[in-house]
Amino acid sequence: MTYRAPVRDIRLALDNAGLKDLMAEGFAGLDDDTVTAILEAAGSFADNELAPLNRGGDLNPARLVDGKVVLPPGFVEALQAFAQAGWTSLAADPEHGGQGLPKAVELAVAEMVHGANMALGLCPMLSLGAAEALALNGSDRQKSVVLPKLVSGEWTGAMDLTEPQAGSDLAAITTRAEPDGKGGYRLTGQKIFITYGDHEAAQNICHLVLARVPGAPPGVKGISLFLASKYKLNPDGTLGERNAVQTVSLEHKLGIHGSPTCVIQYEGAEAELVGEENRGLAYMFVMMNAARLQVGMEGVGIAERALQGALAYAVDRRQGRAAWSADYPARLYDHPEVRRSLMLSKAKVEAARAICLTAGVLSDRAHAAADEGRRKAAAARRDLLIPIAKAWSTDLGVEVASAGVQIHGGMGFIEETGAAQHYRDARIAPIYEGTNAIQSLDLVGRKVAGDGGAAMGAVIEEAAAFAQGLSGSLAEVGARLSEGAQALRAATDWILANQGPGSLTSATAYLQLAGDVIGGWMLARQALLAGDGDDWARSKSAMARLYAGRVLSLTPALAQAVANPAIDDLEQTSAEALAG
Ligand SMILES: Cc1cc2nc3c(=O)[nH]c(=O)nc-3n(C[C@H](O)[C@H](O)[C@H](O)COP(=O)(O)OP(=O)(O)OC[C@H]3O[C@@H](n4cnc5c(N)ncnc54)[C@H](O)[C@@H]3O)c2cc1C
Repeated sequence: MTYRAPVRDIRLALDNAGLKDLMAEGFAGLDDDTVTAILEAAGSFADNELAPLNRGGDLNPARLVDGKVVLPPGFVEALQAFAQAGWTSLAADPEHGGQGLPKAVELAVAEMVHGANMALGLCPMLSLGAAEALALNGSDRQKSVVLPKLVSGEWTGAMDLTEPQAGSDLAAITTRAEPDGKGGYRLTGQKIFITYGDHEAAQNICHLVLARVPGAPPGVKGISLFLASKYKLNPDGTLGERNAVQTVSLEHKLGIHGSPTCVIQYEGAEAELVGEENRGLAYMFVMMNAARLQVGMEGVGIAERALQGALAYAVDRRQGRAAWSADYPARLYDHPEVRRSLMLSKAKVEAARAICLTAGVLSDRAHAAADEGRRKAAAARRDLLIPIAKAWSTDLGVEVASAGVQIHGGMGFIEETGAAQHYRDARIAPIYEGTNAIQSLDLVGRKVAGDGGAAMGAVIEEAAAFAQGLSGSLAEVGARLSEGAQALRAATDWILANQGPGSLTSATAYLQLAGDVIGGWMLARQALLAGDGDDWARSKSAMARLYAGRVLSLTPALAQAVANPAIDDLEQTSAEALAG
């Protein structure tokens, strides 16, 4: 079973997210037909060029041979074709060679790329992050020489943050940047886990590196951002000799085998400062918002692909007597439990997609809206949704991939069906780009307490008002959504009143609750938008009802879990006691 990009579902989610209003607001040259044509072309590229390489990438991991990183068969050609077809430049500024499309469209395309081949999709994803960092904070020269090459995909980018002692806590970074007396810097140190830190699919690789200059203040206030490329840049922008940025080994991983995860050594590597000294982490945080949405989309993409495989298997495989078929043996799909699992997975994938693309449209609106108040409101809601989009969607990627293995039965545990690969691949997304625990802390701290609950309060009010208006076949959805909004309000009040150990231990449950409620709201909106013109459209209402019964029904209990964190027991129980 390979992959088919869910273009119609994605289009519905973009419409629900408000793409049409956005086009009228800030993308005057763009129309509906063009968006559909872009999605269809991207879907066709993903289905035909990227998806067929997915299994080969798993079986033939990236390798380090004589100091060079060798990608799996077909990856180099596919990455180059991807760039040549213009897929790396969708939302970049036309001033830097981009197509100036909304970020939300770029995100929608990213889902298809990750669904088709997550290990390959990481390369353009990292380049986007590097391009964003330079677009926001680069010098004129970096913007005119380096940025257009990243946008065109001729060069790729890598984000070099993590060190052995500095993972979630980037304050612990020790890589040194010494001024070279000529306006540049020399980097010394080691980074680990650097995705696509080296390969031969591009002419050059631009590393965005976090490091410390001599005398920098300790902690996060003393971290600066540097650009160090694989080949040094001559003053005229052409490529010079090899820089001292060396991949010394590749990690052996649970999944995404096709993606090279590099240990990088800098031995006096030539580098340029990006922006000002000691402001590196602030620059990275702006860029990370976009990257976190991209990783959320990875969760959606991998879940969609796992679901497609499981559905195809459930229709094909026959076993036993089933309640919903007279056939013997019946299709797995006709067993109520199997169908519940598939349909609930699909509903959750659609909810996650809706949350991510809504945050995407809000990102565009935060820049494009003419009215300042509208820009500010969009930015506040986007910032609130981003940790939810990242964590809820990537946890879901693992959940749906696991359900996919289960539906395959024993064959799910056997590698040749591919279900196991999706499960292994999905597992990284809750870890990188800020672990999901870190996302939940960001939500309860910076995002909810940071504005006294204002942005979350506005979401809850809107969802509750929307729920009140649901009637007819969606009346039950309305009732459950009202309860969900009430539960989220109570949990938010508790989080606001219990900042500190309380909110820290309840953060993960709170993020899940927020995702569950907002997801249910999105599904009901999409059901109304889809109407009842055909089976596809009617399935949207069916999924909203199933989700309301199976997920929204549990939200009052989840709010109770948030408010009962057993702090004293947690605090007083020693690691020795747990070890037994
Ligand atoms: C395949 C892969 C690709 C990667 N790609 C890149 C890349 O391209 N560039 C790059 O710079 N890095 C990359 N990383 C690194 C990745 O971002 C880190 O692994 C991640 O940030 C977590 O850091 P850590 O592994 O040191 O875990 P730790 O920080 O040691 O965390 C371990 C556990 O403790 C929890 N924890 C830690 N601190 C807290 C806290 N304050 N509150 C609550 N819980 C906490 C975490 O949630 C986690 O569950 C990659 C990693 C992998 C495995």
